[in-house]
Amino acid sequence: MTELQQRILDAVDAGWDEQLAFTRDLIRYPSLRGQEHTAQEFVFKALRGRGYAMDRWAIDVDTIKDHPGFSPVAVPYDNAINVVGTHTPKQASGKSLILNGHIDVVPEGPHDMWSRNPFDPAVEGDWLYGRGGADMKAGIAANIFAVDALKRIGLQPAATLYQQSVTEEECTGNGALSALVRGYTADAAIIPEPEDDMLVRANCGVLWFAVEIKGRPVHVREAGTGSNAILSAWTVIEALRGVEAKWNAEKGMHPYFEDLDHPININIGKIAGGDWASSVPAWCRLDVRAAIYPGVEPKDAAAEIEQAIRRAAAGDPFLSNSPPDVIFNGFFAKGYVLEEGTEAEGMLSRAFEQAYEGERLKSFTTPGYLDGRVFVLYGECPCLVFGPRSENIHGFDERVSLESVRRVTKTIALFIADWCGTETI
Ligand code: ZN
Repeated sequence: MTELQQRILDAVDAGWDEQLAFTRDLIRYPSLRGQEHTAQEFVFKALRGRGYAMDRWAIDVDTIKDHPGFSPVAVPYDNAINVVGTHTPKQASGKSLILNGHIDVVPEGPHDMWSRNPFDPAVEGDWLYGRGGADMKAGIAANIFAVDALKRIGLQPAATLYQQSVTEEECTGNGALSALVRGYTADAAIIPEPEDDMLVRANCGVLWFAVEIKGRPVHVREAGTGSNAILSAWTVIEALRGVEAKWNAEKGMHPYFEDLDHPININIGKIAGGDWASSVPAWCRLDVRAAIYPGVEPKDAAAEIEQAIRRAAAGDPFLSNSPPDVIFNGFFAKGYVLEEGTEAEGMLSRAFEQAYEGERLKSFTTPGYLDGRVFVLYGECPCLVFGPRSENIHGFDERVSLESVRRVTKTIALFIADWCGTETI
């Protein structure tokens, strides 16, 4: 380890208390979908105060709707504010870098199933609790404080560096896409998602859709003459489980996925239906998330899903004449594979070994959506999705390991010094 590298590691430690306080502040903003703007205001001010040149905008669907990476959207984007801070060096001598994170968090569910208020962060031992702490406000803070560590020892990146805080990662991926379309590109990108101290080699694409099932409402005394939309939902669910089983059986054809137990999850995430206990329900709606392998086009997967539902409906006397509607209303995103052996990955591995005291960086396949696909598939930019150890993301008592966050921050700081180079402030 060089003297400079040791100074960078020490500088991350010196800023740690401030970093933890910043992360806790960020968790207090309940940046659920449609409510991201207050958290983004906080990030905007934090970056502006550090001297970044600032840009922020609400996602404009018209600018991205014809892009192949666009996902259809059913909600207004008035509060879907993206924030980017740009660092420009005195003299550029290194390679440019995007540090990206998403500010949106998923709904916290019933509070009485949490041990504490999900938006009032708490530290217990090595764990920081709170909705969105792991996924991924600790990562956004790590990005910011990695650059701060360099500044603390009188240095700054000797290349253009962008700090991005984007929206819509949990539902469409349109936030990261909007930043790309706005012109933000670089020689590499890092996204410190909660990946248990590992690098993502491959991930799934994701589709979101609703299935609207109709029924024939009658009084329950003549239920036999009606058609129960809630019971019909089971026909649709069975059809979707059939698609899931078929796609999982094909895993051997998809490199990086063949050893996973169950790479394709089709999740019935939400169900609603009916109006009255004594009426046969006239409607039922399912909200569903399906995964697809990298290389599979969302439109082909969508056609297969629609066909499976149509086939199942054909076997039912009522549904055959009133087939369910399938509405694609969110993620319509491909998966990606991070090419092995890039210069960026080599540098990240070396930085990791120093920050993790000799441990080797492992890579793995994760069957969930990541904004990394925007960079890799459409930005010609190797994207290193690597981040801290966590538990219960998207569940109750979400928590992130503080020691892991500290090491992730050190890894990013060392990577910046190597990839961008450094110059005196
Ligand atoms: Zn995330």
